[in-house]
Amino acid sequence: MSYYIDVIIPIPLQKLFTYGVTSAEAKFLKQGMRVSVPFGKSKIYTGLVYAIHDKAPVGYEAKDIEQILDEKPVITQVQLQLWQWIASYYMCTLGDVMRAALPNAFILESETVVIKGAKTIDESDLKDDEFLVYEALHHQSSLKIQDISGILNKQGVLPVIKRLIEKEVVFVEEEVYEKYIPKLVRYVKLHSEFTSETALHTLLDDLSRAPKQREVILTLFSLSAKTKKPIKVSDLTAESGASSAIIKTLIDKGILEEYHIQTDRVEYSGKETELSKMLNEHQNQALAEIEASFKMHRVVLLHGVTSSGKTEVYVKLIEDTLKQGKQVLYLLPEIALTTQLIKRLQNYFGEKVSVFHSKYSSHERVEVWNNVLNNQQKAQIVLGARSSVFLPFNNLGLIVIDEEHEQSFKQFDPAPRYHARDTAVVLAHIHGAKTLLGSATPSLESYFNAKQNKYGLVELMYRYNNVLMPDIELVDIKDKLKRKRMTGHFSDRLIEEMTEALGQGYQVILFQNRRGFSPIVECFTCGHAPQCPNCDVSLTYHQYRNQLRCHYCGYTTVMHKTCEACGSPELDTKGFGTEQIEAEVKQLFPEYKAARMDLDTTRGKYGYEKIITALEQQEIDILVGTQMLTKGLDFRRVKLVGIMNADTMLNFPDFRAHERSFQLMLQVSGRAGRTAERGKVLIQTYNPHHNILQQVSTNNYIDMFSEQMNDRYNFKYPPVYKQIKLTLKHKDFNRVDTASIWYAKSLRQVFGDYVLGPEAPPIARIRNQFHKNILIKIPKKQSLAKTKEAIIKINNSFLSIKDFRSVNVILNVDNF
Ligand code: ADP
Ligand code: ZN
Ligand code: ZN
Repeated sequence: MSYYIDVIIPIPLQKLFTYGVTSAEAKFLKQGMRVSVPFGKSKIYTGLVYAIHDKAPVGYEAKDIEQILDEKPVITQVQLQLWQWIASYYMCTLGDVMRAALPNAFILESETVVIKGAKTIDESDLKDDEFLVYEALHHQSSLKIQDISGILNKQGVLPVIKRLIEKEVVFVEEEVYEKYIPKLVRYVKLHSEFTSETALHTLLDDLSRAPKQREVILTLFSLSAKTKKPIKVSDLTAESGASSAIIKTLIDKGILEEYHIQTDRVEYSGKETELSKMLNEHQNQALAEIEASFKMHRVVLLHGVTSSGKTEVYVKLIEDTLKQGKQVLYLLPEIALTTQLIKRLQNYFGEKVSVFHSKYSSHERVEVWNNVLNNQQKAQIVLGARSSVFLPFNNLGLIVIDEEHEQSFKQFDPAPRYHARDTAVVLAHIHGAKTLLGSATPSLESYFNAKQNKYGLVELMYRYNNVLMPDIELVDIKDKLKRKRMTGHFSDRLIEEMTEALGQGYQVILFQNRRGFSPIVECFTCGHAPQCPNCDVSLTYHQYRNQLRCHYCGYTTVMHKTCEACGSPELDTKGFGTEQIEAEVKQLFPEYKAARMDLDTTRGKYGYEKIITALEQQEIDILVGTQMLTKGLDFRRVKLVGIMNADTMLNFPDFRAHERSFQLMLQVSGRAGRTAERGKVLIQTYNPHHNILQQVSTNNYIDMFSEQMNDRYNFKYPPVYKQIKLTLKHKDFNRVDTASIWYAKSLRQVFGDYVLGPEAPPIARIRNQFHKNILIKIPKKQSLAKTKEAIIKINNSFLSIKDFRSVNVILNVDNF
């Protein structure tokens, strides 16, 4: 008898591929083990065994596998079950899911490049073939699988490489994310004993015979008065001319006190942990309600205002889950911004916290993967971004999804275009675990599910310590313009409030939902605006580099001196982005330090961390930023938040624009006044009567929800209707045009009026590809599975038409 296996290969193949195996191999292999398999003319892939059987494939001759790579499964049945759900729900292939789910080091293939590891190796530990590869890497910085085949003079080298990776002799080449450990800055202040006026006078008298020390104290005073900020030791020595020995003497005498801001940003090192905090009555009640709700619901939504202490409530639930001996997954929209949270959890749970993130090196990811798989102490709590739903949990008890409304939980490109929140709910279900969603501004989807009693709902409407919600004021810029009360993009009110907050030594955040200097450059004479040669979009002016840049494909060119079209030298920069706001701030407040946080300034290594640290250490007085600012940051000294222009957000052409604007504005407002001092938020707008702005200024989620839901009912949008978006792409406009008309017509024959389009998106050409969108709306009562079946059938007919075969079709289920 002949034996076969069906294998998942990490490429987008519609079907599993079948290979031949010997009877011994068939006996040995299990679902979830890896094998290396030949594919196409000369490629080798790592495949995952899905099924073992004796039925020859129809339509092609099965090739034999190259080798077996594992002794036992590396993927659990539960994981495969989740992969299947993702593939079927998000309409992608198991290969797509495999590529997203496994660390690169698990899927060696002919294209893989390996590099030498940093570890020193005892050469006698290496087998002959391993040694040859190790040696070769002394002469060449990197090797491809093919090269290694050449060196070893044989096919089937993946097992050798796999062993070398396990021994840390080699690494899979990739961009390695390095951790950023901010420098500890030393600060000094006068010991509290001497802060009264009389005590101070006595002190200065006492020091009259130590003039250098006295000088230091006086300098400290004048610096404090001038800057109203913590005084760095380095500034004090520079200003007073005193040596560090003199400062040390003053510290030793107990006159000065040395301290660090942000000692809690240092890497976790010790074993000591602290007890979790005692909850206040509101938190306790929320906790009790969540626990009660979990008896009836698998998923509970915690709607808690910013700074209500949601995290401390999660901590109690996590403690409880650990006590039951179960694992916890804590999902966050973006790891880069959450160094703050990592430290907080490590304080309570010490080494039990692992972090998993696609920016970690493959080696680190493999380590976390294995710790989770083996249920190690080290990985009882995994803090991770969306890809951590793919980890091999074997005993999951709880998933916490913080900031559940965040769009970045949805993967946009490439497939699988999955939503990590929704996938996590399914993952929890497979494990019989509970899911807690948390947000100050829940997504309509989750709140709707709660209202329908599909999820439990718990509310926490009091800020911890009764800190007041920030005072939100709307500023009518149309009126301000008319009365000439605008300086650039700043209203007189904003300038007043900034002057006051900065004068008191507080920090200011300015939110501008767009990066760059100004979105477009326009010729005064003929109106021409420079366009991206690859995309249908105007180029954005970036003053800092004097460049024009495409935000879609990354194309850059130097800023033109004259108009390309008519030659006129009068080019006008219209609109405004973060860079321009920063420039204006620097002119308005030259004595304060301004910085910018957007995609451009955070791209490099440690981009975010550097800016966040600088803000925490009060090196920055005014931070101008895009929506990156909104994600759960906790800054102590920010008193004022200015939203430069609410209208660009509100008018964005997307059915979620209003919901998103509400969430963004409330989240960014939540950054103001998180301690005793009440925060202030100014929202500049041309349209202060807009309902969303009224709802933001009164923090009225319920009104926003009902009004938006009304629209979603009327216009048949999610969460009332499900939605699948198809995007067709091709470099030839006519081809994509004809293809999309064909596609939409076929869909209409099945779904009638629920098909919209084809339509060209606002930016119709990106990277030289023309785009067309088709939208399918799916009423709740219509079977989603049947709908997808029908789409797949149409897609297959589509692909069988010769002219259309080269058109790229992208399916996006629950598109964001
Ligand atoms: P949220 O996640 O709802 O925005 P946090 O959990 O970050 O709120 O809490 C806001 C602040 O209040 C944090 O600095 C936190 O340490 C503090 N806090 C919250 N609950 C407690 C508590 N029970 N005891 C002491 N401090 C608390
Ligand atoms: Zn472009
Ligand atoms: Zn011109």
